[in-house]
Amino acid sequence: MCSEGGARGSWTSQEAFQQINSILDDLAGEDLNAVPAEATGDDQIALQRIGNRVQAEGLRRLRRFDSGQGYAHCGALSARAWLRWRLNLTATTASERVAISRKMPALPKTEQALADGDISHRHATLIAETATQLGDKFEAQAETILVDAAKELDPWRLQRAIWHLKHCLDADGVLSDANKAKSRRYLHLSQTFDGVYRIDGWLDAEGGAVLNTALDSVMGPWLAGDDRSATERRADAAVEMARRLLDGGQLPAVAGQKPHLAVSVDMATLSKEPGSMAAELEWSQPIPAETARRLACDAAITPIIDGEADRTSRVVPGATRRALIARDRGCRFPGCDCPPAWTDAHHVKHWADGGPTTLDNLILLCRRHHRLVHEEGWTLELARDRELVAIPP
Ligand SMILES: [Zn+2]
Ligand SMILES: [Zn+2]
Repeated sequence: MCSEGGARGSWTSQEAFQQINSILDDLAGEDLNAVPAEATGDDQIALQRIGNRVQAEGLRRLRRFDSGQGYAHCGALSARAWLRWRLNLTATTASERVAISRKMPALPKTEQALADGDISHRHATLIAETATQLGDKFEAQAETILVDAAKELDPWRLQRAIWHLKHCLDADGVLSDANKAKSRRYLHLSQTFDGVYRIDGWLDAEGGAVLNTALDSVMGPWLAGDDRSATERRADAAVEMARRLLDGGQLPAVAGQKPHLAVSVDMATLSKEPGSMAAELEWSQPIPAETARRLACDAAITPIIDGEADRTSRVVPGATRRALIARDRGCRFPGCDCPPAWTDAHHVKHWADGGPTTLDNLILLCRRHHRLVHEEGWTLELARDRELVAIPP
């Protein structure tokens, strides 16, 4: 194995590394239970700065190794290949490290700030990448601005400062970058073998902001008692957004029809007769009877019963729905304040079980609570004061 390097003259690094390691051993041997916790905050700062300085020295030595082809006597073809081999780095990290070490001589202020421990390797990398991207448009003054910013900002905020600076120095380049970013957009929506859907995508800055703004508005503020995670709330909001678009009737017709969810279901399934088949949702896998009952509960969908579109529809008539909204003023589930626009009309006794589509058999429930009552087995009872009581399964 090629590990000892070439011949070395009077150099001090081996001795220095021994000393550094022995100091680290001393630190690692310190009993931290005897140290006040608040004092270790300063340790974090000191170690971070030392880490930055170590990185700077690493880059300085890498430059010598690279330019002097210190890797060649092992048969390695490049410093990058050698780094991957001996330091177990990914190809990206190794390339990035060689590139930044080569770039540093042109960025003396950046190199100095890293060597002083004032900025991190990540900051230095961002500045070096910016200098490369801007080429001769990158002025000495620009480096000063970025190094000063890097001493104050985390890399994410530094990147934002860089965008502004790039726009000042090369507005056309920023536009061209944005156009390239746009051309990378995609959205995969695929159904897995289990029938669930998986979304994966890439949006440009504007597209992402539009989607985020819309999702945020549908999600609303987090409410006490909502035990969904942020990602669950976002998933619900995305579906809710699509549902409202469908319900709004503003979408273009498909094959001469307003787009809508179609459910195929036997009457036996809808009335939950033992031994009945599952229902089928267009574009999806078979769904449980209780889900079909919920979807059919407020028949904004058209149930296809026994192969026929169900024209005897249990659609809640406009006047009944208006009366329902006036009475319930939103989701009736105890403690929920969802407005009417986000609710379904729930048949307390399902129409498939003979319940009438009349005001006294209907209540408004938001989508989440409608699900709780159907799929998750909660029951609702009217107390004597006509307040609704929810009983968990
Ligand atoms: Zn219902
Ligand atoms: Zn609700």
